[in-house]
Amino acid sequence: MRAMILRRPNAPLETADVPIPRAKEGQVVLRVECCAVCRTDLHVVDGELANAKLPLIPGHQIVGRDVQSGARLGVPWLGWTCGSCRYCLAGRENLCDAARFTGYTLDGGYAEYVAADARFCFAIPDAYSSEEAAPLLCAGLIGFRAYRMTGDAKRIGFYGFGSAAQILAQIASSDGREVYAFTRDGDAAAQEHARAVGAVWAGGAGQRAPAELDAAIVFAPAGPLVVTALSHVGKGGVVVCAGIHMSDIPSFPYSLLWGERTLRSVANLTRQDGIDFFARLKTLRVETERKRYALEDANEALRALREGEIVGTAVLEIA
Ligand SMILES: [Zn+2]
Ligand SMILES: [Zn+2]
Repeated sequence: MRAMILRRPNAPLETADVPIPRAKEGQVVLRVECCAVCRTDLHVVDGELANAKLPLIPGHQIVGRDVQSGARLGVPWLGWTCGSCRYCLAGRENLCDAARFTGYTLDGGYAEYVAADARFCFAIPDAYSSEEAAPLLCAGLIGFRAYRMTGDAKRIGFYGFGSAAQILAQIASSDGREVYAFTRDGDAAAQEHARAVGAVWAGGAGQRAPAELDAAIVFAPAGPLVVTALSHVGKGGVVVCAGIHMSDIPSFPYSLLWGERTLRSVANLTRQDGIDFFARLKTLRVETERKRYALEDANEALRALREGEIVGTAVLEIA
């Protein structure tokens, strides 16, 4: 099969012809139709996440068809958990000590076929094409987990308006929340996109928020934004860091945290998050802006994402 392979960090992916994976016990093999590109793929390829499996096929927002049953399934970031550690036993499998992750410690979807543990796959709703569904598998799902960490916040700031934010803005608006979108300063395209998907305000991260926020979600991997977000939320507010990697957070005065403000991260997902997320989508159709690439152009898709050129989500069309 055709696959894009990471042989070592900080090098371009190589186009390769490799054997189709065989299903081990409990696994299904999917013929991949689409795989959306996530910022985490960049962190893996750029060596910012240590201990990636090498060589590696990246990609963890996979939609494909089970070669046995023909069922259309989605493969997310969480690929396997032990089921017996104290986190797994407490329903917090996202924190499993031995968890394996698709496109990081397991081969992913930048390929024509992928093997995945059937227990961690999700059925894809018929209302979404494979290309439409691919960004839901991480941006949507882990974004939804981050969104739920904001509780009943009315005014929510989104810092970094990319793949996850475009999905969550629609869900938050539908829930009666107000979304304030902070993009890179001067990024008119991202601000226009934010307003189009329901943000009540969009501006640059250097701008003053037009209202005191009840919560913030930091999607961009830039530590200084955490301090900015803290300075924008009112007393009792929460700042949720949704990314897996972030540059260092600068020191800041305690007064920004005082007043019972909370700063927290969100790590990975549980299968229950996915069940709840897809249930939420039964009453809301989420529309995403996407840019399509051929599998062989994965390096170009990663470059465009790194340079901030993608409005919405980059998706590899594979079959
Ligand atoms: Zn575990
Ligand atoms: Zn991801």
